[in-house]
Amino acid sequence: MPCVTRRNFVTGGAAVFAAFGSARRVLAQTAPTTAGPAAPALIEDLVAANRILADQGVLDGYGHVSVRHDRDPNRYLLSRSLGPALVTAADIMEWDLDSVPVDPRGRTGFIERFIHGEIYKARPDVLAVVHNHSPSVIPFGVTTAPLLPLYHMSAFLGGGVPVFDIKKAAGESTDMLVRNSALGRALAQTLGARPVALMRGHGAVVVAPSVRIAVFRSVYTEMNARLQAQAMALGGPVTYLDPEEARKASSNVGGTIDRPWELWRQRALGGARP
Ligand code: MN
Repeated sequence: MPCVTRRNFVTGGAAVFAAFGSARRVLAQTAPTTAGPAAPALIEDLVAANRILADQGVLDGYGHVSVRHDRDPNRYLLSRSLGPALVTAADIMEWDLDSVPVDPRGRTGFIERFIHGEIYKARPDVLAVVHNHSPSVIPFGVTTAPLLPLYHMSAFLGGGVPVFDIKKAAGESTDMLVRNSALGRALAQTLGARPVALMRGHGAVVVAPSVRIAVFRSVYTEMNARLQAQAMALGGPVTYLDPEEARKASSNVGGTIDRPWELWRQRALGGARP
């Protein structure tokens, strides 16, 4: 009775389709609630971070930086899909940790926003996340050469820099983008407790206890990668910071972060306040 079988199949398909439709309506009804307005200084730093990372060559038309909401650890702030050099306070959107927007108002988010949500879930200590395609780090994600701290400015790399392979995480070839929570979770797992992870054939993720330190680490990860490739090209063994040096040198950053920040901010924004 092939005819009946086909009718059953079609009916079943329609039922599944209807179920999807109602699931979508339920999701729309349960949009996350807002944590309220974030501190203006936090928004200002986030906008400045976008401009600085673009100015420093860490971000170009792609890549993004987020900060955890100061009123609710289960919300984060991230620009709508826009080139970082163009971001203003009006472009900042609020997201829950499943990376669902609180109030999209027709604005589109980044495809790879799940990187941010899943890292905030996995790392309560992390208050800022940068995802970039920082050019000099790319070779270290596709070869057997590990990224190592070459000088004191990048001492935070001392705990090692793991490489996330999206093909292993997905179990198949993908379009290379972290476009859902499962892939975001796998990336957060690779990152572990460290500040930086590379993404094979793609870029990197950098995390920190503040947006200023996230910018600092992003700039000096890019610089370390460039210098390390130069040192390796000179030939012979390269001397990196030893673990004790890395530990001691990385404790210097907290007290001096405002110095490079103000310089970078002036360069990227001039006297303007975003
Ligand atoms: Mn990307």
